[in-house]
Amino acid sequence: HTQDFSVSTKPVQGKLGRVPVGIGRRRMRIVVTGGAGFVGSHLVDKLIGRGDEVIVIDNFFTGRKENVVHLFGNPRFELIRHDVVEPILLEVDQIYHLACPASPVHYKYNPVKTIISFPTNVMGTLNMLGLAKRVGARFLLTSTSEVYGDPLQHPQKETYWGNVNPIGERSCYDEGKRTAETLTMDYHRGADVEVRIARIFNTYGPRMCLDDGRVVSNFVAQAIRKQPMTVYGDGKQTRSFQYVSDLVDGLVALMEGEHIGPFNLGNPGEFTMLELAEVVKDTIDPSATIEYKPNTADDPHMRKPDITKAKELLNWEPKIPLREGLPLMVNDFRNRILNEDEGKGA
Ligand code: NAD
Ligand code: UDP
Ligand code: UDP
Repeated sequence: HTQDFSVSTKPVQGKLGRVPVGIGRRRMRIVVTGGAGFVGSHLVDKLIGRGDEVIVIDNFFTGRKENVVHLFGNPRFELIRHDVVEPILLEVDQIYHLACPASPVHYKYNPVKTIISFPTNVMGTLNMLGLAKRVGARFLLTSTSEVYGDPLQHPQKETYWGNVNPIGERSCYDEGKRTAETLTMDYHRGADVEVRIARIFNTYGPRMCLDDGRVVSNFVAQAIRKQPMTVYGDGKQTRSFQYVSDLVDGLVALMEGEHIGPFNLGNPGEFTMLELAEVVKDTIDPSATIEYKPNTADDPHMRKPDITKAKELLNWEPKIPLREGLPLMVNDFRNRILNEDEGKGA
């Protein structure tokens, strides 16, 4: 490394806020793009809970009003239906940029829509960086462990440059996020924007989309509906599953801290898909069965974060193991599936 971009020296403070929130901190106005989605809505709860003003920008592509409806009527909360691909003018202190078509069903299976992910990531990120530059806000990008592709290094450290197939089915997502990271660093170097980059590993919890095709939501919904859990391939591929509140704590620690990143935010507990199916079975229904299905192309064989850097520099590490976090998600899924069935007159 010839230059060290890992430390940013500017202090954290609201540039717009006038109202003190607790000791030594002023209320900030914070944008969360994708704030009606799964991760975003939990982040918004935390920011509102600590006394800040939050503006959510969401086009409801995969997000839902239900995720933030409990905040309607709170004078510190605003919801704007807007596509981040279009420019927007706001005055804010911080920007958490989460908006992105993020689940496999939405970015992979429909060959026409596949292309959506790339321009959204790139144009949306560009607009939010332009906004950050204009108003002097701090900008945080939620990147992904997918930037490591099918990794040849295990566990993955932030210094690993990855193994992504540029012409594969997943590449619209992977390359979109890689380009978003590039843009973020270019705005930092070229326009002196204060930036933060999180590389998020597989995360689960309440408010996940029911049918987004991700493995935890699939297995949990299938077990509740008394359907077999669909294991793709031989089920020996691994992932590391993080509970959503741990991720939200990590995102806030990163935004408030002095280091740009990138930082891996994930739970190092690693499971094969067959082991995950066992945990779901123990949690929901001991009689649950599995059904093998062909795997998708370019599926990463293993994934596990090395979180040494986040532990040292952000003083952050996940607290909730899979067997504790899963039951917290199951209640929410049970209620939503029940409501769905009632809606169908079942
Ligand atoms: P999600 O689909 O629940 O949330 C994404 C939100 O962005 C949705 O509310 C959606 O409506 C909104 N959105 C999409 N395109 C938009 C656009 N053009 N304009 C405005 N809003 C738009 O997904 P999530 O799991 O909450 O993911 C949040 C972020 O975290 C994403 O950037 C994702 O890539 C990243 N991430 C998530 C995981 C995970 O396991 N959940 C892992 C790695 C990275
Ligand atoms: N942008 C925005 N809101 C702002 C400032 C900029 O949406 O408050 C958009 C702007 O429309 C442009 C992008 O962000 O598409 C990048 O802006 P920048 O000023 O960096 O580039 P320029 O407009 O000079 O090309
Ligand atoms: N997977 C599975 N059954 C499903 C959905 C996914 O076995 O019903 C597998 C998938 O092949 C992959 C892993 O679970 O190996 C994680 O998939 P997911 O889409 O949740 O996340 P990602 O691949 O983006 O990490």
